[in-house]
Amino acid sequence: MAKMYYEKDCDLNQLNGKKIAIVGYGSQGHAHALNLRDSGCDVIIGLRKGGKSWPVAEKDGFQVYPVAEATKAADIIMILINDENQAEMYQKDIAPYLTAGKAIAFAHGFNIRYQQIQPPADVDVFMAAPKGPGHTVRSQYVAGKGVPCLVAVEQNATGKAYDIALAYIAGIGGARAGVMETTFHDETETDLFGEQAVLCGGVVELMKLGFETLVEAGYEPENAYFECIHEMKLIIDLINKGGVAMMNYSISDTAEYGEYVSGSRILPYEQTKANMKAVLNDIQDGTFAGKWIAENKNGRTFFNSKRALLAKHPMETVGAELRKNMLWGDDADPDTASN
Ligand code: NDP
Ligand code: MG
Ligand code: MG
Repeated sequence: MAKMYYEKDCDLNQLNGKKIAIVGYGSQGHAHALNLRDSGCDVIIGLRKGGKSWPVAEKDGFQVYPVAEATKAADIIMILINDENQAEMYQKDIAPYLTAGKAIAFAHGFNIRYQQIQPPADVDVFMAAPKGPGHTVRSQYVAGKGVPCLVAVEQNATGKAYDIALAYIAGIGGARAGVMETTFHDETETDLFGEQAVLCGGVVELMKLGFETLVEAGYEPENAYFECIHEMKLIIDLINKGGVAMMNYSISDTAEYGEYVSGSRILPYEQTKANMKAVLNDIQDGTFAGKWIAENKNGRTFFNSKRALLAKHPMETVGAELRKNMLWGDDADPDTASN
């Protein structure tokens, strides 16, 4: 069983006298910064001049500096910019000013796990990773609650890295909900696997194939959209609330019988497991990371062409029309994607 921590295990005083630089002011950045400030911490923001976020952070009342200046001034530097931009920024704006005894922190382990960032041995390296979107991290905090977090320590140079990491997580409200101890290695690999095999890769492909199968058989695309895409959220909400049992309780017995006889025809057990293991292998041996790093260096040709192709797919165009008149589209916030 994983080791869990709660508020009683965290001491916010560990952050007394420490200046925290939040680098990036997007989904996670704004939430960490505002929550820490409301918890009484000394927070500054590091950003690039001319970007969209700079004026937003200033409007929220923060002192904003170029990343190099923020790194120089701070004791704890939390990197909350896009994962694919982190290595370059680290080399240029952070590494030169990362003196002994400081701490560098992350909300996802990609760049440490795949050695894109290699901090010096004399700094602490920790992870404070909320298991939820940044906007929820903020709204839960304001409501007196919190989003559960992962904590991990890659380097404990000062001997205080765990205390500081747990205090930081208490400061963003995560300890109210629970903090699970993990490693950069496991967080990165499970996060990538989940989004590729199930949450994003798997689900989108499943919905797309279902939609196409109905349309190619002559059914109306609007009907295909409702059956294979729109209803996904309603089903997942039930599972989220009460497990598969609650979904099965809520759907008809006909649907449940169909689930048992057809699910494994769509995803044949042995074959699907073998495919999933192959995806996991590529994550574990660095093949996937290498491809993604190269893709970013080479102008994202594959990525951009896939994105453009998907935008034209009828499941997207038909869906966009239908959603204009659907009330339940209103609570879907694109900023709340957590992967
Ligand atoms: P966003 O895309 O929402 O925000 C990125 C921020 O970084 C923006 O403020 C952007 O500023 C800034 N930025 C980008 N490049 C640079 C640069 N070169 N120099 C300075 N600032 C830069 O990021 P997320 O909050 O989604 O992700 C941040 C981290 O949190 C990632 O490691 C991610 O994996 C992790 N994470 C994210 C979750 C989420 O809910 N989104 C959930 C859990 C972890 P500008 O306006 O100038 O472009
Ligand atoms: Mg139905
Ligand atoms: Mg992810």
